[in-house]
Amino acid sequence: MERVYIGLGSNLADPAEQLRSALNALAQLASSELVRVSSFYSSDSLLPGQPRFTNAVAALNTDLDPLTLLDALQAIELEQGRERHERWGPRTLDLDIILFGDRVIDEPRLKVPHYHLQARAFVLYPLAELAPHLQLADGRTLDQLLSDCPFVGLERL
Ligand code: ATP
Ligand code: MG
Ligand code: MG
Repeated sequence: MERVYIGLGSNLADPAEQLRSALNALAQLASSELVRVSSFYSSDSLLPGQPRFTNAVAALNTDLDPLTLLDALQAIELEQGRERHERWGPRTLDLDIILFGDRVIDEPRLKVPHYHLQARAFVLYPLAELAPHLQLADGRTLDQLLSDCPFVGLERL
């Protein structure tokens, strides 16, 4: 099994409930085991003028291959009413693959590590709860990423 970290986010239709429901779905994924979930956080939206987001990170062990996992995550998003309009627009549920073991994936549908990992406090701080000593395949440590990404616009719930 490989260790995967999944970023969860929602800012519509009872965000905390959206996350709980998504976590239930993740716990039922085939060939996978939901290991741990971070605290929930409230964060500023990436675009101004939107409701605040609720975010968390989940640790999953899986035997699924990355694109099969992405398909499963997108099915959960759709199941929970995700509609894609403007980029970074409001959404009931976003499930992003942040890390997939030590793999570096650069495919049209899937880039791993997540391309904005280092800029997103709402990913880094919950991730640090689950994996404080994490080191990326390129040698960067989570500690370094955290020290370059202040705890701003974020509230631990
Ligand atoms: P961002 O990627 O900046 O967080 P977003 O999550 O709102 O934005 P989505 O609309 O959820 O973007 O996804 C757009 C596309 O990104 C998806 O169709 C998917 O194929 C692709 N994608 C690339 N890398 C990843 C990844 N690591 N996790 C999830 N989706 C990814
Ligand atoms: Mg996203
Ligand atoms: Mg996404």
